Amino acid sequence: LGCVAFAYSSHFFLIKTHDPSGIYKSVTISLSIFAIVLLVGKLKSREQKNIQALKRSGAALIHMATTDKLTGASNRHAFYKRGEALHEHSKSLNIPISVLFIDIDHFKQINDLYGHAFGDAALERISNAIKHCLRGSDINCRYGGEEFVVLLAHADSDAAHLVAHRIISVVQSIRFREYPDLRLSVSIGLSCMQPEAPRSLESLIRSADKAMYQAKQDGRNRVTME
Ligand code: GH3
Ligand code: MG
Ligand code: MG
Repeated sequence: LGCVAFAYSSHFFLIKTHDPSGIYKSVTISLSIFAIVLLVGKLKSREQKNIQALKRSGAALIHMATTDKLTGASNRHAFYKRGEALHEHSKSLNIPISVLFIDIDHFKQINDLYGHAFGDAALERISNAIKHCLRGSDINCRYGGEEFVVLLAHADSDAAHLVAHRIISVVQSIRFREYPDLRLSVSIGLSCMQPEAPRSLESLIRSADKAMYQAKQDGRNRVTME
């Protein structure tokens, strides 16, 4: 800006002393306008870049606040926020929804036998396997250490059983190059809200949790409905 001001004042001096025809004056004015337009453009693009950077860091913050770092699934807080909205919407339109409570079988042994880092990798693989079985409208979350909760949109108990059995079989088909004989399994508790008997999301999760414990008692690697 200092350079522009200096150039401008020297031009002004030259115009006053050596420009009887006014040509030099018009050229100077045009150049000044051009410089101002350039400067405004530069400021605008810098402002746009700043806004884009702010938007990016805002999105990254939201992602961090709503997502489980290890598995990429929603965290509990985000699950309840989206889940309550889906639950209310389904209740008001008399649409059934279902909850799956998924717990990895004998996961402590996996950690003990193969190490915690391998356990983390196994958790990630199982989370991806679950995601693979869901639709975009379903909501899944890492509910606790080795537990996942899924809210199935527009799903009665038959539809939910189908998804749960698909999850069981996809998890069973996971293979690890380092340990080719290792097989993983999950136990799943299922609960369902039918349109004629509305109930809270919390009560659905509690029932699915109870059903999951029953699945454990019945021998694991299965689906049980309360
Ligand atoms: P069950 O079939 O009865 O569910 O047996 P389990 O061994 O899976 O259940 P238990 O509750 O005894 O153990 C859960 C294990 O999950 C213990 C804990 O160390 C492990 N775990 C929880 N969160 C993580 C994690 O983020 N990473 C790893 N590697 N392990 C985890
Ligand atoms: Mg558990
Ligand atoms: Mg377990």
